[in-house]
Amino acid sequence: MDPITAAIRTQTSRTNEMEHSTPMFLTSSFCFEDAEEMRAAFADESEDNIYSRFSNPNVKEFVDKMVALEGAEAGYATATGMSAIFASFMSFLKQGDHLLCCSSIFGSTHTVIKKYLPNFGIEYSYVSAEKPEEWEAAIKPNTKMIYLETPTNPGLAIIDLEFVNTLAKKHKLLLNVDNCFATPVNQRPIDFGADLVVHSATKWLDGQGRVLGGVIVGKKELIQDIYLFCRSTGPALSPFNAWVLSKSLETLDVRMERHASNALKIATQLETHEKIEWMKYPKLPSHPQHAIAVKQMKNGGGIVCFNLKGGLESGRRFMNGLKMLSLTANLGDTRSIASHPASTTHAKLSEAERIDTNITPGLIRISVGLEHVDDILQDILQALDNC
Ligand SMILES: *Cc1c(COP(=O)(O)O)cnc(C)c1O
Repeated sequence: MDPITAAIRTQTSRTNEMEHSTPMFLTSSFCFEDAEEMRAAFADESEDNIYSRFSNPNVKEFVDKMVALEGAEAGYATATGMSAIFASFMSFLKQGDHLLCCSSIFGSTHTVIKKYLPNFGIEYSYVSAEKPEEWEAAIKPNTKMIYLETPTNPGLAIIDLEFVNTLAKKHKLLLNVDNCFATPVNQRPIDFGADLVVHSATKWLDGQGRVLGGVIVGKKELIQDIYLFCRSTGPALSPFNAWVLSKSLETLDVRMERHASNALKIATQLETHEKIEWMKYPKLPSHPQHAIAVKQMKNGGGIVCFNLKGGLESGRRFMNGLKMLSLTANLGDTRSIASHPASTTHAKLSEAERIDTNITPGLIRISVGLEHVDDILQDILQALDNC
């Protein structure tokens, strides 16, 4: 069965009322008929739910859908993307281990790696998203995992998953991919050999800016380790959020198609605009890693970024000139969102760090929504007139 069909048709739980839409199981714990049934559940001899920190029917349905979409064997859902990422590190890295990490990654992931992993005696090295051919030289005898995002946030660099997987397999390293920007309907890292895939479900998976969530999928034996870590440390996804996310996945493919076709049109039409120095979108032929995007991504996703010739001040004026697009920290919503990283999310970085992560002063990131593309274009065009 097509994975998208499988995800849409997955319904793991219903009550005797035979609901067509899965009901919500807002319960912290589950009952047993007798002592024997309870013993078997605690001995892991049955799949019965015990307690919603361990498992819950709504959470299971969301995970089953993600497993189908990503082509994985198993998964575990968490309260946020960050708790999924943290669990994927802490379940496999221990004192004395080394993590090889792409330097263009989500801000809070940076903080976890730089500030907290060293407290546990875990080393790390950053490598450039643009130069995977240099990664092998950074592998050490104690390297255990490669962690990356592709496309990267917010610079939209594309990393060749097949190439990095060959490297990971050669050195027996776990390949852990944050697939948040592409989503599984556009790119399936497991098809290229990834061992673990992590997501912030808060973004495109929900796609409507309503709930926080995260998920990790991958090989069964690896997910078992993640499950044991999470079951004890408690980053469980709430059943309500899982119910919302589970419904969202049924429309993920059609939503992403429209996000991507809107984004491609915006990128194409604005690429030669006089106020814009460069425009980046994975499916634009001018993208430096366009050939890799064609190989591993079905469409280019919903994020477009461009650099304003006028730098920091132009960036501010652009943001102030917008009338329809939202100025907010999220991305992956039905409504288009603009952000100016140099004056907001990345304002605390030093000039050198900003250059390192490709945050130029005039960089604008647009999370392209589901509005009519002409309305989005018109708002961007009139804001460009302002800067
Ligand atoms: C937002 C985001 C995260 C963190 O997810 P939360 O749900 O906010 O915890 C991780 N990775 C990427 C690429 C993101 O965009």
